[in-house]
Amino acid sequence: MNTKSKIFLNFLKNTENLIKNKKFYIFKSLLSFIEDKKISDTDYRNLSTQIRTMSMIDLLIRTGSLLKGHFELSSGLHSNQYFQCAKLLQYPEYAEKAGKQLAALFDASKIDVVLGPALGGVIIGYETAKALGKKSIFTERKDGIMTLRRGFHINKEDRVLVIEDVITTAKSTIESIKIIESFGGKIAGIGCIVDRSSGQTSLKIESLIQIDPEIYSPEECPMCKLGQNIEKPGSRTQIIE
Ligand SMILES: [Zn+2]
Repeated sequence: MNTKSKIFLNFLKNTENLIKNKKFYIFKSLLSFIEDKKISDTDYRNLSTQIRTMSMIDLLIRTGSLLKGHFELSSGLHSNQYFQCAKLLQYPEYAEKAGKQLAALFDASKIDVVLGPALGGVIIGYETAKALGKKSIFTERKDGIMTLRRGFHINKEDRVLVIEDVITTAKSTIESIKIIESFGGKIAGIGCIVDRSSGQTSLKIESLIQIDPEIYSPEECPMCKLGQNIEKPGSRTQIIE
């Protein structure tokens, strides 16, 4: 095995624990591939989809969007991971790439408008809309309540695609759906770069990556037990290496 393959292999092993069980498939296939073992045609076909997932994870890691450490989430729970998609989306070429990948998950002929809840959904919503050739609008909070402002309007029967950067509790998605429906619009789909909802919402979410975070109550948190410093999201964190 050459050095490049070894580095790639290490990368796979290091990120393996970040991927949902059903995504483990890629590691097996790629390991077979790298180690020159035979893989089936079906495995080979599935690889391209899985490689796209890997390339997005690679981008998230390289841009420091995927953080490892000991975090206190806004819910008060603790986690060993945190996403800051803004770090990926600060690079226009990566934002465009993510938008194109998300757009590919939906049928443009069944979408009239793309809506990205502010702030996280604005850039990626715009890039997805651009790739689909559709209009891009956003909802935003005013005094804590999600609203559609700035003269944006949703026509009755408009098919609206909701795009977010990260979906965890889907609170802003659900609030935006209520707004869309209040205008008589229809939900054409829901998409995000990173789905970390662990299937806990009733929504059908299309994502570039699904990751189940390790989440603990402060009392049960193993990192607290080890006395590791805790950080609140937004503050400085360590990038996964
Ligand atoms: Zn903790």
